[in-house]
Amino acid sequence: MKRTHLWWALAALVVGLAVTAGGPLRAAGEHINYADLNKIKAEGLQRSQVMELCSWLSDVYAPRLTGSPTAQRAADWAVRKMTDWGLVNVKIEPWVNKNGFERGWTNDKFYMAVTAPERFPIPGTPTAWTPGTTGPIAGEVVLMAATTVDDLAPFKGKLKAKWVMLQAVPDVPAYWDPQAKRYTPEQLASLELNPPPPVLEFGVTPPGAGRGGPTPAAPAAPQAFGGGLAAAFNAARHEFLRAEGALGTIATVPRGHGLYTISGNRAADPATTLPAISIAAEHYGRIGRMLAKNVPVTIEADIKSTFYPNPAVFNVVGEIPGTDKADEIVMLGAHIDTWHSATGAADDGVGVAAMMEAMRILKASGVKLRRTVRVGLWEGEEQGLIGSREYVAAHFASRQALPAAPGAAAGAAPAGGGRGGFGGPQGPLEMKPDYDKLSVYFNIDNGTGALRGIYLQGNDAAGPIFREWMEPFRSLGMTTITVRNTGGTDHQSFDGVGLPGFQFIQDEVEYNSITHHTNMDTFERLQPNDVTKMATIAAGFAYLAANRDEKIPRKPLPVPGQGGVGRGGQ
Ligand SMILES: [Zn+2]
Repeated sequence: MKRTHLWWALAALVVGLAVTAGGPLRAAGEHINYADLNKIKAEGLQRSQVMELCSWLSDVYAPRLTGSPTAQRAADWAVRKMTDWGLVNVKIEPWVNKNGFERGWTNDKFYMAVTAPERFPIPGTPTAWTPGTTGPIAGEVVLMAATTVDDLAPFKGKLKAKWVMLQAVPDVPAYWDPQAKRYTPEQLASLELNPPPPVLEFGVTPPGAGRGGPTPAAPAAPQAFGGGLAAAFNAARHEFLRAEGALGTIATVPRGHGLYTISGNRAADPATTLPAISIAAEHYGRIGRMLAKNVPVTIEADIKSTFYPNPAVFNVVGEIPGTDKADEIVMLGAHIDTWHSATGAADDGVGVAAMMEAMRILKASGVKLRRTVRVGLWEGEEQGLIGSREYVAAHFASRQALPAAPGAAAGAAPAGGGRGGFGGPQGPLEMKPDYDKLSVYFNIDNGTGALRGIYLQGNDAAGPIFREWMEPFRSLGMTTITVRNTGGTDHQSFDGVGLPGFQFIQDEVEYNSITHHTNMDTFERLQPNDVTKMATIAAGFAYLAANRDEKIPRKPLPVPGQGGVGRGGQ
């Protein structure tokens, strides 16, 4: 090697070392106290209580439909637990507005069986807020696959004292692919490096622009009640069925494998609503195929459901006070309410358990927190992120929705049980004094899958900060930052008023395929290693946010008159 070459090689090495030491990983200059993070990791990974919290939530205090007595008991339990751990200001905080929750509801008994031509039981679940039966009632089954008002006419005079199946027998695909998946390094890189597809118009995001990654589209939920045109047809169909004297309705989804999804409309008046049942495609199909052979089928059902007038609707909060920046707030959150056909273990008992456990880890590890760390457990998420929106409106800021477009169904839950909530035009922000006190909100609500990174919700300035915060958790699988939005859960309530609200990237472990809103969302579907790491990382991020010199930077404020900022594509 010639001497000049050696010199250049040395120079390149020096420059290379400088880049490595002071380059990308230190770009935000975060001060990271590894001694404290090690205490957090030791508490979270070696002395975890998170699966026990999951079990209390999903085995004892479940399901937790908003406004139901079990949701209240779960909230009371969470308050006791967090008080025992030494958190302060632990309380149930009622919503300012009741948001149409005029009655709580529980299903206390469900029996359904085919009694002719053969006898066999049918597992199922009544749609929320629908009435039961007056004891066992039997009737023949009619399949009425109507999709328009015109389709109803041929059934006039044929539905009296009949159980009515509301759709054609669906084809059920096999499980050609594994239902639980880990993101591959290639998929994570794609999530990080490929920008989301361009937005074509204000408020209109192209299909697939939301989460990216290998998420299969969820099959459509039974459309007992929906938004817009679907809601209008469903209402007309329901009126027709009532006028004809039908006993009740039966619906399914094309998943098969014993699965069905559930939803409900809190505005349904029990005095004028028919019993509505969700069952698995296998049972639905067997009955439908017999009817197609002109074999009459008789169903007997005995359903008892209870209504509870004027229920409490609320969020649960608790804090660990900060020190020199105690008036500033870092928040962790998840939704405590569930649907009711299983125990809501993955949606979102696991998120609640992980965020409660994160608070326990912070308290038990004894690390110092400069800002106050607060946990929020929201009710009403499943009906449109209501609890978190109520909380944000009461404490931080609200945006009045501008008048909805003509034809929008007033008071009806959105299709699929209430997602989004920021689709319409939004008015100007009304800020509360604490608007400037919140640093950041972190949310968990995508099932049991391990945390693999974080969605930036378009907040580029937060990227270099989170990049450095992830480094101590790299060995737990936290590696990826994507500027993309993700939607459909409570971080949107913060993001929608311009506050930094984030949701983590999670492995797709049976969430969209098996657990989300189904009768199989149970403790057995939780993965202890993933959940333990989840709580530890949430504690670490809360710790780092609480002790950072500055608050997390914010995006520009939303513009009045347009759709809410950060609306995801999910
Ligand atoms: Zn959820």
